[in-house]
Amino acid sequence: METDVCIVGGGPAGLVLGLLLARGGVRVVVCEKHDDFLRDFRGDTVHPSTLDLLADLGLEKEFDQLPARTVTQLSVDLPDGVWPLADLSRLRNPHPFLAMVPQWDLLEMLAGDAARCPTFTLRRSTEVTDVIRENGVVKGVRTAEHGEIRARLTVAADGRHSTVRRALNLRPRDFGAPMDVAWFRLPRRDSDGDGLTAHFGAGRILITIDRGDYWQIAFVLPKDSYQQLVAAGLPAFRASIADLIPAFGDRVDEITDWDQVKILTVKVDRLERWHGPGVLLIGDAAHAMSPIGGVGINLAVQDAVAAARILLQPLREHRLSSNVLAEVQRRRTFPTAGTQLFQRLAQAGVIRPTLSGGRPVTAPFPLRLLRRFPALQVLPARLIGIGLRPERFTP
Ligand SMILES: Cc1cc2nc3c(=O)[nH]c(=O)nc-3n(C[C@H](O)[C@H](O)[C@H](O)COP(=O)(O)OP(=O)(O)OC[C@H]3O[C@@H](n4cnc5c(N)ncnc54)[C@H](O)[C@@H]3O)c2cc1C
Repeated sequence: METDVCIVGGGPAGLVLGLLLARGGVRVVVCEKHDDFLRDFRGDTVHPSTLDLLADLGLEKEFDQLPARTVTQLSVDLPDGVWPLADLSRLRNPHPFLAMVPQWDLLEMLAGDAARCPTFTLRRSTEVTDVIRENGVVKGVRTAEHGEIRARLTVAADGRHSTVRRALNLRPRDFGAPMDVAWFRLPRRDSDGDGLTAHFGAGRILITIDRGDYWQIAFVLPKDSYQQLVAAGLPAFRASIADLIPAFGDRVDEITDWDQVKILTVKVDRLERWHGPGVLLIGDAAHAMSPIGGVGINLAVQDAVAAARILLQPLREHRLSSNVLAEVQRRRTFPTAGTQLFQRLAQAGVIRPTLSGGRPVTAPFPLRLLRRFPALQVLPARLIGIGLRPERFTP
């Protein structure tokens, strides 16, 4: 098989890039190793900047049909009170909220729309095992199921454990992270609060995300300690949840098996070089983000938008060069590195001391300032919801 662009990975980055290039008339093949997008929970946050993109693409009505829950207030629950952190309703944006949508529904919607373009092909159940290299230039990929797919450009959007990255022998710089995250759900009652709240206690952090009839909950634990958590047993796990959020004491018994708990091994890393002859890496394949701020999907989408905008014309005119590929990295390095810097500061200043359980956590000065001057809550809202250097795509 032969195409213009072969994209490895049908996640947010791969599907958005595939859709945008195919709409621009470029022949695209997306290889996705799974048969469908129905996988374990892996983040549901759709940010205002992604909602803007969907509106630009005329997909707003379709998106509105998906089961969504919107969140405008982000707060922090500390032993000395509940402190507002970000108020997205203050954003001057047509979408001043986070939309919580199951990722598989979003991906199916993007794939469905892309499939209307005659130049788009999604190959499901197609696992890329290697790249084809000729005279040092990547000329496509090898797949387990369909043999070779030759392409003028190969894009690695295959996530944090990227096969293409490994095949190219590229190693990201690892910035380290003090935590891992165990995800699970508990029922939500009408009498509960709503929104997204980070609950801090001595030695533990729980983040609750309002998903309508249930809470999606992140249990933040010290790095590499999941086996210890499991060894301590479910009763201890349930007790530590109820200890931090007493209102959940009436429902923690719903966790009856560790299968209900999914572990996310947190990584913060970034490639020094996101491209090579005939190949570009974007999304988690180029930079894994910390879950702080829930920005991984948004950054992956923003990479795809920037890549599509920069690559479309050179691809149409057959003048793709390493300068053009380098331009994508130049455009996206600042927002990626800047966001990772904020995340690393939060990891070092808040997460690590809390998890080590050394000192009682009380509201730091910036949180007090945000409560005293609520208008300032637009600043964290902008950083989380829109991000640094937002991308727009005008077809
Ligand atoms: C448990 C969990 C919770 C998370 N929570 C959040 C959150 O709340 N908010 C948020 O913004 N982010 C969250 N993230 C991170 C977020 O999922 C990623 O940052 C985002 O999905 C990155 O998009 P991507 O397209 O670059 O890669 P991915 O979404 O990882 O997509 C990569 C795709 O490539 C496919 N693939 C991999 N290898 C191959 C191969 N060899 N051949 C073919 N296909 C392949 C995979 O099946 C996958 O579909 C979470 C992640 C996890 C694991």
